Amino acid sequence: MGLRAPGATPDPPALAVARRLVGGARRIVGFTGAGISTESGIPDFRSPDGVWATNRTVTFGEFLTSEEDRIEYWRQKVAAWPAMRDAVPNAGHQAFVELDRTGRLEALVTQNIDGLHRRAGLSGERVLELHGTATEAGCLECGERIPADEAARRVEAGERAPRCRSCRGLLKPATISFGQNLDPAVLNAAFAAARRADLLLAVGSSLVVEPAASIPRAARLAGARLVIVNREPTPLDSLAHCVVRGEIGEILPPLLESADR
Ligand code: NAD
Repeated sequence: MGLRAPGATPDPPALAVARRLVGGARRIVGFTGAGISTESGIPDFRSPDGVWATNRTVTFGEFLTSEEDRIEYWRQKVAAWPAMRDAVPNAGHQAFVELDRTGRLEALVTQNIDGLHRRAGLSGERVLELHGTATEAGCLECGERIPADEAARRVEAGERAPRCRSCRGLLKPATISFGQNLDPAVLNAAFAAARRADLLLAVGSSLVVEPAASIPRAARLAGARLVIVNREPTPLDSLAHCVVRGEIGEILPPLLESADR
């Protein structure tokens, strides 16, 4: 299975092997990264036009301690929100919904914050959002959540760093910032699902962001088959039972169709 250029048709022998592995699995854990949403028009982490290339990073510590940094953080998030809100789930997201209908999807662990797996139709209990969600904002004091649309309207109306209407605590988009711990309950649930899995399917992730990238590794160490779908090599390719290089929208529908055979 050689290196394939972006847009090339998927490697047929690798896809056939992956179909056999998926077809024989009973407890599949999906693990997705930004790559599954690029076909919905949301840039991934490493693209030159991604928001990370053009915006100053505001760390969690800076958000907590500086009103000026909170204003900058909210400015960036409100500017990025309409593109995420208007994005539509694509064939890759739908393929996981089809897999779930066969009763074999144990969990879908995602690094994505765009909410597209749930909008495609996966239930909230099936989806574990490691890095939180951009679809809501949460109070850092009392935990109350409000929709991102409402938070964006308040910022645009002049509350440049909005506060919770119940307790006056700091409101923050419900995503995990640099320097902020992941939710331990979500992280533990993801590792537990990975250890129960008989197959982990990693899709559209460079598998370099930690601790997320340790989840497929943990599944593999616990005995699961590991299948990777990505257009570029990843550091876990040498651990995988099968690597399918190519475009997710072309690979995932035929790959996951095989699950009900
Ligand atoms: P990443 O950007 O590091 O890796 C994405 C991988 O997907 C790359 O290796 C790329 O080659 C591949 N890819 C992109 N489009 C593809 C396609 N159509 N077909 C096949 N492969 C494709 O993403 P990551 O591993 O998720 O880490 C990035 C971090 O940034 C995460 O923490 C994530 O939370 C965050 N992020 C999220 C979103 C989102 O919610 N959609 C978008 C950008 C970044």
